[in-house]
Amino acid sequence: SRLPAGVLREATIDVGAITANVRQLRRLTDSEVIAVVKADGYGHGAVRSAVAALDGGAARLGVADIGEALALRRGGITAPIVAWLHAPGANFREAAGRGIELGISSFDQLLQASAAASTGRPVSVHLKLETGLGRNGIPPEDYHVVFSEAARLERIGRLRVVGLFSHLSNASADDDRAALRVFLEGVAVAASVGLAPPLRHIAASHAALALPESRLGCVRLGVTIYGLSPFDDRDAGDLGLRPAMTLRAPVAAVRRVPAGHGVSYGYDYRAERETTLALVPLGYADGVPRQASGGGPVTINGARFAVAGRIAMDQFVVDVGDLPVVVGDEAVLFGDPTLGVPSADEWATAASTINYEIVTRIGPRVPRRQV
Ligand code: PLP
Repeated sequence: SRLPAGVLREATIDVGAITANVRQLRRLTDSEVIAVVKADGYGHGAVRSAVAALDGGAARLGVADIGEALALRRGGITAPIVAWLHAPGANFREAAGRGIELGISSFDQLLQASAAASTGRPVSVHLKLETGLGRNGIPPEDYHVVFSEAARLERIGRLRVVGLFSHLSNASADDDRAALRVFLEGVAVAASVGLAPPLRHIAASHAALALPESRLGCVRLGVTIYGLSPFDDRDAGDLGLRPAMTLRAPVAAVRRVPAGHGVSYGYDYRAERETTLALVPLGYADGVPRQASGGGPVTINGARFAVAGRIAMDQFVVDVGDLPVVVGDEAVLFGDPTLGVPSADEWATAASTINYEIVTRIGPRVPRRQV
């Protein structure tokens, strides 16, 4: 396939894959799904990812911050949204006014949420419990006092406590089980002070698939809805998931060079024999990790190559040997590996990182085209 004329680079987003992935994940987990669309839908586009996930039956959306939640509302999303990472002095009133549910990690935030309520309009909150990750959340020693106050504020109509939640380390199954025990103790403390919210959610993709007892009827799924695996040793296909993003560019220049010819900054790569070099107009400014220089996989006309030499800001070079590559031929960096192209996982390996970072870092200079 070729790119539309005039396109220098693009990420195609298969929204049908996101919808199908959410359906598959609901089947696999038998749980209500909170679709996590923070960081611009892991680079896929927040609004389109939200729409696609809701089409697949997601019940609610999760984002890190209020700004992301407001952007979804501006994009026409009316479904419930929960945002859980707040600036000091964040505008809870505006968020509450747009019906955004707030993750609450401290007594102070609880009071700020209550202060944002207006008469007859309680603010919806999810109380975040710290269960071992060492990030934010109400610590176990504060469960009783914070939950008691939350219960009181709920009784007087200032708050509606929609959920209790936490987040796991995935350090090991035993560590996750220990955190889950702390969480369930917290749920019991809440019940003892009259707080029994409809939702409890602690599992993100990894635990939702690997630790069934962590599902609790509601899971917060990010990476898997985009068709990527949260595991080192199982790929998306094994889980019945399909990657939604394909990163591609047309070959922008082709050059026949003699043996010994250097390639890119520092000449880290030199042609071993007379060969053809193809220039791909994607670089680290687009989120192609420079650390994958000399290793990142690319397919051109279905044949597989590795990046030759250093990845530059806007471009990199591929040594295509004697293959008849011409300007305009399509280079694919990653997509659905069942279609014969590399996966984001392979780029992650080449750059010593995780697939999450590969897709979320694809930069704003790369147009997303929904397919
Ligand atoms: N829940 C929280 C609090 C998160 O920060 C994240 C993402 O990092 C998720 C859920 C989704 O995680 P995953 O993409 O592993 O499913």
